[in-house]
Amino acid sequence: MRIATGGIAQETNTFQREPTTLADFERPGFGVVARGEEILDLEGTGTVYGGVVAEAKALGVELVPTTYGGVMPGGRVARSAFDTLRDEILVALRAALPVDGVLLVLHGAMALEDHDDGEGLLLDAVRDLVGPDVPIVAPLDLHTNLSDAMMAGADAFVGYKEYPHVDMPRTGARALQILAATVRGQARPVMAHARLPLIAPNQSMVTTWQSPLKIAIDRAREIEREPGVLAATVLGGFPFADVPFAGVATIVVTDDDPPLARRLADELATICWDRRAEFAVRPVPVDDAIAEAMAAPPGSVYVLADIADSGASGTAGDGTVILAGLIAAGARSAAVAQIMDREAVAACIAAGVGSTVTLAIGGRHDNLHGPPVRVTGAVRSIHEGGFALAGPMGAGTRSSRGRTVVLEIGGPGGIEVQLTEVRGHPHDLNYFRAFGIEPTERRILVLKSAAHFRAAFEPIATKVIEVDAPGISSANLANFDYRALRRPIHPLDAGARWSPGA
Ligand SMILES: [Zn+2]
Repeated sequence: MRIATGGIAQETNTFQREPTTLADFERPGFGVVARGEEILDLEGTGTVYGGVVAEAKALGVELVPTTYGGVMPGGRVARSAFDTLRDEILVALRAALPVDGVLLVLHGAMALEDHDDGEGLLLDAVRDLVGPDVPIVAPLDLHTNLSDAMMAGADAFVGYKEYPHVDMPRTGARALQILAATVRGQARPVMAHARLPLIAPNQSMVTTWQSPLKIAIDRAREIEREPGVLAATVLGGFPFADVPFAGVATIVVTDDDPPLARRLADELATICWDRRAEFAVRPVPVDDAIAEAMAAPPGSVYVLADIADSGASGTAGDGTVILAGLIAAGARSAAVAQIMDREAVAACIAAGVGSTVTLAIGGRHDNLHGPPVRVTGAVRSIHEGGFALAGPMGAGTRSSRGRTVVLEIGGPGGIEVQLTEVRGHPHDLNYFRAFGIEPTERRILVLKSAAHFRAAFEPIATKVIEVDAPGISSANLANFDYRALRRPIHPLDAGARWSPGA
């Protein structure tokens, strides 16, 4: 059995004004473009391909790799970047024909500069090439914004069930199992989906506690054990995308039983709809969060999550409001990961390790993440920025934030700020350890992350506080200027209605 594979994966925050370019995909530690055999080298990593490659060996399936491009969430993908990657996939796929099936690795919330539905376009192009009889299966991120074109283009989808996404390898493996069973004639996947008039903040989708989405996902796991069901998926959607089809959706794949798929997709959607009020998230005011952390007993580790400036949601990564609050409060034993500021990095490197600098940091990208903050601090260390991920997400891959400076404000034991050239999302303890900071020994850790930090940091945290600082991954969805999103939709409009089968 020969299965062609490749894909394009990016999550688009349409409120991020900077487009995502091919150079972003190709920047080591920020994106990855794997060509041909390089895809197979991802075996064993904490990625979708980590699971796909291992499962192919277990199933005796020959994977025919094309091109895979993945990158940190960000602004809309430049059309030239999409076209380049799509064409590489199609050229290699054409050369590989005939194949028995196609496994496409997608995110599910990729928007292009001139088109809201990148996945729909890619699926269409692949379908045009392989024809209607070659099955196409794709794993999807939990933050997929599911479009009709996506549903029309694939034979089966399987979504992640964990947020933080610690189940990427497992989801990839499951997608390949379904595809292989289809090729062997052991299964005939049929899909049904339900798209709710509901957008939800990312933080309400977390699965390390019984969030409203987790309750539906738990039921999806039960459904997957029922006879005739191949996959059951609950998608939280990605709310920071102003596209018509953003929001919560469900997909159920059955073995040639359309009414069963329909009924179960509606059942999962009903769970989410009935709980729609519970998807509201109320983060803690900045000053309250800092005061609570400062008053905690010695030895405490407080995570102050800067959920509205989450690099993994495509934000600026240079928000300053929590840092300003720490300085104003005279906080000690605090470490901030991270503030992207290329100019500040360059100035600190020019000054050199050990020197004292006074400069404005952060708040340069736009006016949505707080103003630049003027600080005086010591340049404690300078790093090339690359490091290995070792935690529950992405283990075995490398990350890089570009050149990185640790600036110490208030002397030893004060506030350590990492200044970086590239925005990040601190979801691994090595985001501190690689830069000489031991996170278990700090009173306050400021993490620019909506939720992915939880997999690595909840185990070391005395308490996690979601902080209400400004930014384009804010839980306050009413603050976003949606223009393309379908209306009415909960929680923006009182008139949103849904019932099964609607
Ligand atoms: Zn996601």
